[in-house]
Amino acid sequence: MSVWIRTLLAGSVGLAVALLRRLSGYRAASDRAQYDVLTGLLNRSAFEQRLNGWLASGTTAAAPFAVLFVDLDRFKFVNDTFGHALGDRLLIEIARQLKANVREGDLVARLGGDEFVLALRGVKDARAAEPIAGALVKVLATPVELDGKRLHVSASVGVAIYPRDGADVQALAKSADAAMYAVKSGGKNAFHFADHGLRHRQARCLEIERQLRFALQDHELEVVYQPQVELASGCLVGFEALMRWTNRELGAVPPSEFIPVAEDAGMIVPLGHWLMREACRQAHDWSAFGLADLTVAINVSTLQCRQPDFLRQVDEAIRDARVARGAIELEVTESVLIDEVELAVATPRRLDRMGVRTALDDFGTGYSSLAYLQRLPIRSLKIDRGFMKGLALAPSCMAGSVVPIVDAIAALGRELGKTVLAEGVETEAQARYLKRIGVDRAQGYLYAKPLSAAHAERLLRRITAAREPLEPLAAVAGDPRASGAWRAHTAQTAVTGGGYFPFD
Ligand code: C2E
Ligand code: CA
Ligand code: CA
Repeated sequence: MSVWIRTLLAGSVGLAVALLRRLSGYRAASDRAQYDVLTGLLNRSAFEQRLNGWLASGTTAAAPFAVLFVDLDRFKFVNDTFGHALGDRLLIEIARQLKANVREGDLVARLGGDEFVLALRGVKDARAAEPIAGALVKVLATPVELDGKRLHVSASVGVAIYPRDGADVQALAKSADAAMYAVKSGGKNAFHFADHGLRHRQARCLEIERQLRFALQDHELEVVYQPQVELASGCLVGFEALMRWTNRELGAVPPSEFIPVAEDAGMIVPLGHWLMREACRQAHDWSAFGLADLTVAINVSTLQCRQPDFLRQVDEAIRDARVARGAIELEVTESVLIDEVELAVATPRRLDRMGVRTALDDFGTGYSSLAYLQRLPIRSLKIDRGFMKGLALAPSCMAGSVVPIVDAIAALGRELGKTVLAEGVETEAQARYLKRIGVDRAQGYLYAKPLSAAHAERLLRRITAAREPLEPLAAVAGDPRASGAWRAHTAQTAVTGGGYFPFD
């Protein structure tokens, strides 16, 4: 500036004009640094700066306000189908709609891709934010006409309110982002308010992920074994291997909590590999008891199946443990079958060729094509434990009864020559019913909870010595978990379905 003034003073107007142009060029460049090139909205850093400005200006002018995270739901589809040029024009149109639906002085920014963020002044609580967020969702769900094409996108919107959901830009962004993710996983095309429970759950997941990274090296994992019985004879026919984790800081974390985190973070691959080796080794040890056809079932997650060396790892675990191939059964869920056709068809076939059996876990909860069942060498179907509650409680003719479904699964399995196993069997009445409709096997608290390897072995020893069937609940006699404390715990976990045993 001083150069310019000096030049002006020197009377060189031409030079001054040139400098002036350069200066406005600087300004344009600094503007460009603030705005998103495609949409002309504020960019991320400018948005943060302005919001920080609101916060710094004190409570009077700024507070309260709401931060809204907007993420388009089907943008990738539009981009992939109609090309990037049209995708860009759609983003420009969305930016225009966002701008048109806020008031003067509100902030609208593009964070990148199909993510936008808004800050709305004077919105003090959920009640005030609700109509605005609702209107936004509605506007964004209206089809946009571009180049004669009707484009359908919608948006998931997460709303955080200052100061309730965060005292600074980072905390507010986190809250709004978490709320937006809740919408995404709950079906999209809606808005959701940040809530502390949600943030708390996400913080817990992060902590689990952090701790889980060391679980293997710190020897915090254990495998427990839940007996499976043949309904007709009551004989023990196998065990399902289940993972248990007791962390130094978090204590006992149930698999329903840590397995999904491990799956999301990719950690299920090393954990699952470890469990497979451990369970194979155990199966080999137990083969010494001479129980014919005793199988150890191992859960494998979709991510594990997708590993290029998955089959080699299975083969290696079996070889290294020197266990008979027929003694190992891999439990896969229906998602393995629907996610990728190639994987769905190839994996069970290759396993079958290797002599390893496959069971379809949680059957009846997914959407597997029934055609697969016939084509694939899947040995058994495990009826999901969710069906057990409604069993033997209500007559099958009652609306919403699960009885016809369980009947149908049993019949289907029989027709296709599969072994049908019901899991989560808790009462004699359920067992009687399942036996009557021809279900082959059962597993559940009625017989035994998952047992530590040592207890499972004690049970095997007793059974082989006495050649006795596994009487309901007899399995746990002599087991510390059959004590009053254990029973109380059983009742508790039966409700939550956790089934974890901290008493080993
Ligand atoms: P899942 O494979 O369906 O395992 C059966 C679950 O039902 C087990 O819960 C078991 O303890 C519980 N259960 C057994 N009998 C009863 C009963 O009578 N009533 C009730 N309410 N529950 C019963 P758990 O051990 O907590 O495991 C939960 C889930 O975590 C498993 O469901 C499985 O999806 C996953 N999981 C556990 N271990 C592993 C593992 O090693 N690898 C993988 N990928 N997933 C695992
Ligand atoms: Ca299972
Ligand atoms: Ca299951």
